Amino acid sequence: MKYQTILLFGAPGCGKGTQGKILGQIPGFFLLSCGDVFRGLDSRSKLGQIFLEYSSKGELVPDEFTVQLWQNHVDALVQAKRFSPDRDILVLDGIPRNLNQAKIMSDRLCVTRLFHLDCPDRAKLVERLKRRALRENRLDDANEATIRHRIEVYEAETVSVLGFYDKDLVAVIDGTRSPLEVARAVLARL
Ligand code: ADP
Repeated sequence: MKYQTILLFGAPGCGKGTQGKILGQIPGFFLLSCGDVFRGLDSRSKLGQIFLEYSSKGELVPDEFTVQLWQNHVDALVQAKRFSPDRDILVLDGIPRNLNQAKIMSDRLCVTRLFHLDCPDRAKLVERLKRRALRENRLDDANEATIRHRIEVYEAETVSVLGFYDKDLVAVIDGTRSPLEVARAVLARL
């Protein structure tokens, strides 16, 4: 069975996490952030070590680990009856993050909307991520070179995911505006 899915898409710092949390509060919507799944791993486990190795450098974790971890996590949520694929709409933040992941996941996802939170002002992204580093104590936000590398990786690897989906599914939202204004624009396009 394919999951009815909404994808949140955009550069690091564009506000996917913030909007995901808002959408995830709506009954019938289930939020899954790939970064949060990774950060929830025991840092002493093999997978936890792999995550730290890549994320601390601002690199993507290899696709096989990522998609397998994601699938295992979803399966566990279904088992625990927290996510019901026949009733709930899955809101994905941070996955798929390159073309290969989009292809591997295509037999599991029925994407009904893709929100592209657009923030072309890279300086604004860097500033937001630096603020988040202080708030959330994130290793990958702690240094500016790593932040800049994440933005480069987004441009080199992630942007191509947009072309994988039907362009009618894509809603481009101005991510430079306030969280409330972005949320309004997102809800209006659901
Ligand atoms: P951000 O969007 O700010 O980069 P995330 O929490 O989404 O933050 O991701 C943090 C890190 O976790 C990424 O830099 C990457 O190392 C890893 N990661 C998250 N999602 C994926 C994914 N789909 N594929 C590979 N690596 C991922």
